[in-house]
Amino acid sequence: MENDQLHVIVIEDNPGDVDLVRQMLDASVTTAFEVQCVDRLSDGLARIERQAVDCVLLDLTLPDSTGLDTFTKLHQAVPMIPTVILSGIDDEATAVRAVAVGAQDFLFKHELNGPLLSRAIRYAVGRHAVEQTLREKEEQLRQSQKMEAVGSLAAGIAHEFNNLMQAIQGHTTFAMDGVPKDEQPYRDLQVVLSATKRAANLTRQLLHFNRKETCRKEPLNPNDAVREIIELLSPVIGEEIRFEADLDDSVGAVFADGTMLHQALMNLCLNARDAMPSGGRLTVRTEATMISEQQAEAHPEFEPGRYVCILITDTGCGMPPEVTQRIFEPFFTTKEVGQGTGLGLAMVYGVVQQHDGLIDVISEPGSGTTLRIYLPVHGVPSDVCRQATGQEAGSKAGLVLVAEDDEMVRKILVRILQTAGFLTVEAADGEEAIGVFQQHAKDIAIVLLDVVMPKRDGRSAYDRIREMNPGIKAIFCTGYDPRSNEAHDLAKEGFALIQKPCTPEVLLATVRKQLGTP
Ligand code: ADP
Ligand code: MG
Repeated sequence: MENDQLHVIVIEDNPGDVDLVRQMLDASVTTAFEVQCVDRLSDGLARIERQAVDCVLLDLTLPDSTGLDTFTKLHQAVPMIPTVILSGIDDEATAVRAVAVGAQDFLFKHELNGPLLSRAIRYAVGRHAVEQTLREKEEQLRQSQKMEAVGSLAAGIAHEFNNLMQAIQGHTTFAMDGVPKDEQPYRDLQVVLSATKRAANLTRQLLHFNRKETCRKEPLNPNDAVREIIELLSPVIGEEIRFEADLDDSVGAVFADGTMLHQALMNLCLNARDAMPSGGRLTVRTEATMISEQQAEAHPEFEPGRYVCILITDTGCGMPPEVTQRIFEPFFTTKEVGQGTGLGLAMVYGVVQQHDGLIDVISEPGSGTTLRIYLPVHGVPSDVCRQATGQEAGSKAGLVLVAEDDEMVRKILVRILQTAGFLTVEAADGEEAIGVFQQHAKDIAIVLLDVVMPKRDGRSAYDRIREMNPGIKAIFCTGYDPRSNEAHDLAKEGFALIQKPCTPEVLLATVRKQLGTP
């Protein structure tokens, strides 16, 4: 800051004091000041509106305002600008109150000298900047805590809801089997069935929101995703809207779940369309960006490095700040009943989080909206790319190690596998899993590990097993725990995950997929 020029505005009506302050600041050797003076509060406020000001020196007794009121009026109008009060009256009590309501400093004119004044301004500016950053961080924290809480709630409800849906759907289908197709009850049940499908769709979106659905990530080119979306959505967007892409060929690959990314881009484009009922322009742009340490600091969980930025810009109605603040909340919508669910952006937010990215919004009523998604560029490590090669397992699929501490669950898994023709060995905890693997190292083709087990958790057992056989295939099983991040972390690393309880179809499909057998 030493070398930067500081723009100071002096609001003071006594010409003698104005000259004195000016001389002191002009003589400062540590800091260069650009000083402007006005003699009324209203003029000061008008100046600050028009130009950048680093600090205000304020006299409390002015022609258009007196006392501490002078400061409070200024502070309410421009809380972002640090203010140092210069007072002719030696009044400690007012000084204390002024600082308590937000003044950076309170200096008595008769004690004033050049170095003191110049230092007070520099400290005020520095301190104010620190306070500002702190406030922003607090706000971000509050925001992310709110999203986390709403997310857990939503995901918890969705989970319960899905079970209910399964029951309703199943029994409706049974009931339909017993009714002739041309009768009214059959048609009624058809409506029930289609309503459950819609409900299931909604809950699926809710699960996205809180990292509860495991994603299938693979390296993909974001430009391709954008091109596909534009082709797919053009008929839906309509001819009134110019729908175009502006793609930066230098963007790297991202490690992403293609379906999720598609869905997210689609939601964003559809929102943009809704914001332009009488036409406009919708642009999807990609660009390669670097996020510096400093920029990353402003956002917890955001790592510095190379990112792809996808910008979805429309020339639509835009949003006031009270709307932009809430758009990512599930069920927040400004659309009429039946028009919006308020889940579109909640889903997008969840997807971006699952991809270690960041989303933000720039919008102004009447001037359109830009949503920006940052996704990290991956130098994709080869061992996390889908393992479709190797393991030319024939009909003899090889031995499956099932490590699961809950005996009932373990027995079910084993039975499903054996019924499908797999041979199995079992372990009841992480340590035992390692022991059993050692014994059968040559024959075991794949390990099925519960994430949470006594003695050693699934991940740690896997790491040890991998030391014995670096090419070993693994599947992790996880129970439902709204607070656990393990599943999320494993999915992030590209591991196959099975959510308990699972159907035989899911278990067998996952095992076969990992083994590369049909
Ligand atoms: P929905 O579209 O069902 O209302 P979303 O979560 O997709 O739910 O969006 C939430 C709200 O955010 C919308 O109702 C709208 O008020 C606002 N919004 C989202 N995108 C835009 C946009 N591009 N322009 C203006 N407002 C938008
Ligand atoms: Mg929407």
